[in-house]
Amino acid sequence: MPVTTLARYRDWPEERMVARILEIKAQLGDELTILGHHYQRDESIQFADYRGDSLGLSEQAAQTDARHILFCGVYFMAETAAVLAKSGQVVVQPVPEALCPMARMATGAEAQGAYELLSGVWGDSIVPITYQNSTADVKAFVGRHGGAVCTSSNARQLFEWAFRQGEHILFLPDEHLGTNTALDMGIPREQLGVWNPIKPVRPEYLANARVVVWQGFCSVHTRFTVEDVRAARERYPGCIVVVHPECRREVVVEADQYGSTTGIIRVVEQAPAGATIVVGTEYHLVQRLNAEFPDKMVVPLAVSVCNTMAMTRLPHVLLALESIVAGEPINVVSVDAETAHWARMALKRMLEAS
Ligand code: SF4
Repeated sequence: MPVTTLARYRDWPEERMVARILEIKAQLGDELTILGHHYQRDESIQFADYRGDSLGLSEQAAQTDARHILFCGVYFMAETAAVLAKSGQVVVQPVPEALCPMARMATGAEAQGAYELLSGVWGDSIVPITYQNSTADVKAFVGRHGGAVCTSSNARQLFEWAFRQGEHILFLPDEHLGTNTALDMGIPREQLGVWNPIKPVRPEYLANARVVVWQGFCSVHTRFTVEDVRAARERYPGCIVVVHPECRREVVVEADQYGSTTGIIRVVEQAPAGATIVVGTEYHLVQRLNAEFPDKMVVPLAVSVCNTMAMTRLPHVLLALESIVAGEPINVVSVDAETAHWARMALKRMLEAS
């Protein structure tokens, strides 16, 4: 019988749903891999065979031979898994409406338009780089134009790689990761331009720029302020403040350290017992780290939740798994062959460059 509605679980207690999910996992065995992003709620990430950041999870997806990959995360992550999937593998996202607002701030067509305008002043020396947190469409645009994907851990390496290929970088879609990376490399502010896709500046104003960053942002990370950092230092004297590079420049400068999600976890792991670590990233991860390291205190810089990451709940996971067991998977994520080819090219260049 096809499984089509969440309503059937309305009266199910949590324990019953958990038991049924575990039963399905055991039944499917190696035929199923569940991936969970660090920002997921405990109620969904508890079933993950692999936890990680978006790229680490996609790499896991590419390595598994499981026929079904259930991706508990947001859409661009499941899309990347679909791009990297082997023939015959099916990627399912429990909540297809869980989209990353930042990834949606750039489309391939908008990126192509910016590229053409900038080519008018920069010639053919532009290397586009896109953050992993982007649509397959944008990754494909980058792949077609000789560019690569980067993550928040290897952005600097990819910028260095890009400058070996050409003289200018168009970076999408996160203004803050692009700005933090460029400034840390010693590129002066006056050689850094911002591209507003709604109201683009005249390209000739950017003639002296070496890096142009797309004006996209993550509302979860731009929510943190310098005042939050100062308040945390007053409240927790001697604390370590670590933030994500999607934060604004002034917050990154005010913090003690900044790093990718994986880097933040490492800071917590390596902090001495008794330390207080104030973390500027998504709240579910901060809470989990606090529970996992009882000898340390891990507190949020401010409570900032990614609402779309939080959409995946127990009934969604269960419904998606029931559909797989029934042989009629719902919410299958797929990418057309042409887009997947160029997106894969951009991902491959990243792996080669880092
Ligand atoms: S935390 Fe930010 S970048 Fe990550 S999925 Fe949410 S909105 Fe997108």
